Amino acid sequence: MKVIGIDIGGSSIKAGIVCIEKGLFKKVYSEENLPLRTNEFIEIKEKVIEICNKKLSEGADRFVGISTAGSVDNTGTVISAGNFNNYRNVSWKEIITKEFGKMSVSTINDGRASAWGEYSVSNPKAKTHIHAVIGTGIGGGVIHNGELLQGDSGQAGYIGHIKITADKTPLCSCGKMGCVETLASAKGILAKYNDLGYYKYNTFNELIDNFNMDKNRIINVFEESGYWLGVALGNVMNVLNPQCVTVGGGVILATLHCTNKYSLENNPYMNGVERGIHYATHRRVEATGSVICGVLGNNAGIIGAANLVVASK
Ligand SMILES: [Zn+2]
Repeated sequence: MKVIGIDIGGSSIKAGIVCIEKGLFKKVYSEENLPLRTNEFIEIKEKVIEICNKKLSEGADRFVGISTAGSVDNTGTVISAGNFNNYRNVSWKEIITKEFGKMSVSTINDGRASAWGEYSVSNPKAKTHIHAVIGTGIGGGVIHNGELLQGDSGQAGYIGHIKITADKTPLCSCGKMGCVETLASAKGILAKYNDLGYYKYNTFNELIDNFNMDKNRIINVFEESGYWLGVALGNVMNVLNPQCVTVGGGVILATLHCTNKYSLENNPYMNGVERGIHYATHRRVEATGSVICGVLGNNAGIIGAANLVVASK
């Protein structure tokens, strides 16, 4: 089966055709990444329709899995997505079937889509699996007994808003303080580094591009940010006693890349995560849960969303 996978992020839309055979992920092809020029919903809508059109003409089946930034309820309606104008109360199923006729469409929050992707590809036998996605913000999801936890209103898995410190932190995107997202996300890393007062960058990508200018201090900031994520994850682990915890997202890819080897060993962010987990987790919980980097990289969202639309068929 060839499923159209679409991942709507803060600054671009990723898409591809995801091949799934007998419920198992095989590969992604016809991948593309369309940058968003504005933060208007109308642009997202045009691009999603353009992508569906193109992928159908390339032979995709009439299945679309959409992973999106923002809050999505249990019916697949996008309630709101912080950074975008007019992207609220949107049903992609309605929009896409109006345009193309009958299609199977499912929509899910991007953190949970990635969690499902990592679980279904790397570790489908795990009884309990936690995944955290570290990007501009921090999202994630929990899978238990083969099911993605939705929660009462579809909001389960907001790992980024776990409170990890009583100290004053920058204000979080949720309007509160003390959230791990303010310390361990791309935004958190950038703010922490800029506060040191040596160089100042406007974006996380700029910081990464200039990694070699101030390598050692940047590595320390990665380590400290990872530590706070580890503390948050450790608390979730204490409640759920997972077999597997994966960490993925753009920040992990960037830290792997600029620390040079694409290798997991001695990745400063992940070392920090391990240290934080060790600090926060009960030893019997820590003993049975393995913590690893996600294996799907930037494609976790489209693979997870595509897998879900097939699974929910
Ligand atoms: Zn928050």
